[in-house]
Amino acid sequence: MRHEKTNSNISTPQVLLAVMNAFYTIYNRPEDLKSIKRYSEAKGETQRDICLIPASAHGTNPASAMMVSMKVVVVACDDKGNVDIEDLKAKIEEHGDRVAALMVTYPSTHGVFEEGIREVCDLVHQAGGQVYIDGANMNALIGVAAPGQFGGDVSHLNLHKTFCIPHGGGGPGMGPIAVGEHLKPYLAAHPVTEVPETNLDNGTISAAPWGSASILPISWMYIRMMGKQGMKQATEMAILNANYVAKKLGEHYSLLYTGTNGFVAHECLVDLRPLKEASGITEEDIAKRLMDFGFHSPTMSFPVAGTLMIEPTESESKDELDRFIEAMATIRQEVEDVTSGKYTPEDNPLHNAPHTLEDVMSDEWAHSYSRDIAARPAAWLKEHKVWPAANRIDNVYGDRNLICSCPPIESYAE
Ligand SMILES: *Cc1c(COP(=O)(O)O)cnc(C)c1O
Repeated sequence: MRHEKTNSNISTPQVLLAVMNAFYTIYNRPEDLKSIKRYSEAKGETQRDICLIPASAHGTNPASAMMVSMKVVVVACDDKGNVDIEDLKAKIEEHGDRVAALMVTYPSTHGVFEEGIREVCDLVHQAGGQVYIDGANMNALIGVAAPGQFGGDVSHLNLHKTFCIPHGGGGPGMGPIAVGEHLKPYLAAHPVTEVPETNLDNGTISAAPWGSASILPISWMYIRMMGKQGMKQATEMAILNANYVAKKLGEHYSLLYTGTNGFVAHECLVDLRPLKEASGITEEDIAKRLMDFGFHSPTMSFPVAGTLMIEPTESESKDELDRFIEAMATIRQEVEDVTSGKYTPEDNPLHNAPHTLEDVMSDEWAHSYSRDIAARPAAWLKEHKVWPAANRIDNVYGDRNLICSCPPIESYAE
């Protein structure tokens, strides 16, 4: 979230507030898909049980489709990261009137604006299906695009992505959903608090019909305080920041996807696979090394294995972005030092990262690089340093072995 003072002479972004006021329900992807199911069923098309999902999708999309007993059919992406229109046509051809829906994210998790979004929606509609637009990436759209015109039938706003709330207070995300007029009769209702114009047969999403009263006002205040201009500026900064980082990192790493004009949307994917091949240094080594610089690693190996997905958002200052870029450039040089043989594959600052206080304060230091390189690889770290608390853990072991870390009360008595 931005911390700057905002203009008090604000004009409310009316579309958003209207959405937040008019659509009563918290979002829940499976529930929203059920509206689509009820709609198809009401038309007598009970055979529609397939949800098309592009390969770039977030895992929540196929998971939601499965939860409402839809069958997931994956649509390929082309080498630019866009939905492969030819493959979409082939899948529609193959599954015909079994196509219930397509769930698509715009701009996609590959960090590109799907130029064919309208055609994608048209093709699904022609097959009699509905289009669900995953609103997770509104950070690239607010104030500069009209999502209603892409051609979707259902969309939700992840308030925890673009509108400054925590992730639903620890539970599922929440926010308004918007549906086309034709889907209105199929939205969920509430048995205790009447929600106007809904049908109780459609079921219920959550115990509180309007969502969390403690959290939703945060988004409302954010929008009020930012105002129309501020919201637009946030989008512009998010896109500018992502492209700044992409351009700068592009000098050291290869970027996986860019749009036709060489730009990305709100995030970029740095491809670490070629480096891994050449040096043996893994994406995890790089993610852990970032901790030595005081950074929490960006998303790793999602949506593509062996990559980092970097979404700076609008809220980082240029100084902070420059520090991150410097860290990544330094790391790139360290990878080079492994490839060139200056460091061995087993003893280098990447393989051993993160370095804890315990590591560098110890009288023992048996590495081929200095303590300074280990813990203070950039100038700013000499003034201020956040120490990683622990070295690497065995992730796979941890995932496979449930370990209870709550000792019984008796153990405190000893
Ligand atoms: C974050 C994200 C999701 C997950 O949304 P939740 O509401 O947190 O479950 C889904 N799709 C995309 C594209 C995302 O970025």
